[in-house]
Amino acid sequence: MLSAYLDENGKLTLGDKEIPKVKADEILIKVIACGICGTDVHVFKGINKGKPNIIRGHEFVGEIVEVGSNVKDLRVKDIVIVDPNIPCMNCYQCRNGRIHLCKNLIAIGVDLDGGFAEYCVLPSKQAYKLPGNIEPIIGALAEPLACALHGIDRVDIKEGENVLIIGGGALGLILTQLVVNGGAGKVFVSEPYKEKRDLAFGFGASRVIDPTNEDLLDIVKKETSGKGVDVVIEAVGSGKTILQAINAVSDGGRVLFFGVAPEDVRIDISPFDVYRRELTLLGSFVNPFTMERAVSLISSRRINLYPLISDIIPLQDIKSGVEVASTGRAIRVLVKP
Ligand SMILES: [Zn+2]
Ligand SMILES: [Zn+2]
Repeated sequence: MLSAYLDENGKLTLGDKEIPKVKADEILIKVIACGICGTDVHVFKGINKGKPNIIRGHEFVGEIVEVGSNVKDLRVKDIVIVDPNIPCMNCYQCRNGRIHLCKNLIAIGVDLDGGFAEYCVLPSKQAYKLPGNIEPIIGALAEPLACALHGIDRVDIKEGENVLIIGGGALGLILTQLVVNGGAGKVFVSEPYKEKRDLAFGFGASRVIDPTNEDLLDIVKKETSGKGVDVVIEAVGSGKTILQAINAVSDGGRVLFFGVAPEDVRIDISPFDVYRRELTLLGSFVNPFTMERAVSLISSRRINLYPLISDIIPLQDIKSGVEVASTGRAIRVLVKP
């Protein structure tokens, strides 16, 4: 089967691999679509390291073609989405319910073969059945949605609170919808690309801001009578936007570090400022216990993921797909084997 992985030198390679065999607790799926995540772009471009010879791709949906002898609740022809993260359930963090912080966490598409291939074998417990009323391709956005749900859980927005979302990528646009659905007051979205700002506005943002031509802080302060917003969700992952977030939040407010920053980025913040303004700075990592809710939300149609699929490319063209995904214009690029 055709598959995409890193060679020994960390270079993205397309090659033939054998279709994996199914063990008793596993399923074999034919991949329908797999999203190119920002983390994949980082690895394919050599910004972060990835394991050689592992098929990448962790945001995927597929159709079951074979089930292992112990698998009871799934059958051939079911459409399933995949939770890529596999905790050990034995370490201190797992035993305290923080499975995503597992010391021995491994992930499909990172440590185990993933979705940039025609077929993928995985433990059946990592699969979630997608309801029949949903177009299968939407399932490729279930994992990002589950990550966004965890972010929303972390920052615990109350109805009527004013929120700023920095970044209108796939995650920023999912977060916009979740924040609007959750009954926030004013929702600001800062994003340089017009198409994405238009989507954010369509999803119910009260004010979209072009940070390259408008003064983000000025607008936020003006529209909140000088106070700043109660919550900022930073969904870019740059030092500059983190600082914007800290400046735009009101005293007593919360800032969620949601965007994935390169590991070596440092920011210059004043501990006195955090102390005196009583700021809460929060992190959010992956999708603990949120996959079921993601499926339920997709099925309810109260979230619109379809417009976030900006490009669909065949697996053979994954290299150009990575180039497209690293432009600011792209939202989510899906690969179809
Ligand atoms: Zn991802
Ligand atoms: Zn663990």
